[in-house]
Amino acid sequence: PSPLGPTPKLVIDLERLAQLPKDKAGPLARYAATIQSQRGDYNGKVLSIRQEDLRSLAVIYDKSPAELTEELINWGVLDPEARRAVESF
Ligand code: C2E
Ligand code: C2E
Ligand code: C2E
Repeated sequence: PSPLGPTPKLVIDLERLAQLPKDKAGPLARYAATIQSQRGDYNGKVLSIRQEDLRSLAVIYDKSPAELTEELINWGVLDPEARRAVESF
């Protein structure tokens, strides 16, 4: 196992996401809302997403997964720990 522990989960801060301007956050907000709907998970302050979902979101945002991760960290939507989750990509 890695000395830093297991790969961290990608955890979206939904309250922070809701504060961001729609032109930036719109696609991610719609994606997260779809996952919440599929899971029936409406009450969370955070939403754990799949690694695969970050790949799909990177395509939507026309960035690499690493670039999108940096952007989401800058927005305060992802924890800086999330960097380690995309190293395996
Ligand atoms: P599915 O992919 O066929 O998954 C069926 C059920 O398996 C899920 O029901 C969940 O109880 C469990 N499951 C699958 N993968 C995981 C996992 O990585 N962690 C955990 N804790 N459980 C897992 P659930 O949650 O009601 O989701 C229903 C369907 O909604 C899923 O069917 C999938 O099609 C979609 N879905 C849910 N969450 C996500 C997501 O984060 N990303 C994507 N792309 N689809 C999702
Ligand atoms: P964790 O995955 O580190 O999640 C910590 C807490 O963050 C959870 O506490 C919950 O309050 C919140 N959280 C994380 N992801 C989501 C999400 O997608 N939706 C919502 N609504 N909340 C989320 P909680 O529920 O007391 O769970 C504590 C720990 O128990 C979790 O730590 C996880 O290790 C485990 N756990 C809980 N439910 C599941 C599950 O459905 N599948 C798996 N594999 N583990 C679960
Ligand atoms: P988790 O539940 O702790 O699952 C960690 C990893 O174990 C997942 O990473 C995935 O690689 C694997 N895994 C767990 N359950 C399943 C399963 O039923 N089928 C398959 N094929 N793999 C599984 P991943 O995909 O990056 O997901 C990260 C986290 O996102 C999960 O942590 C869980 O909190 C959440 N998640 C993902 N998909 C679903 C889902 O369908 N429903 C729910 N409720 N949560 C999900």
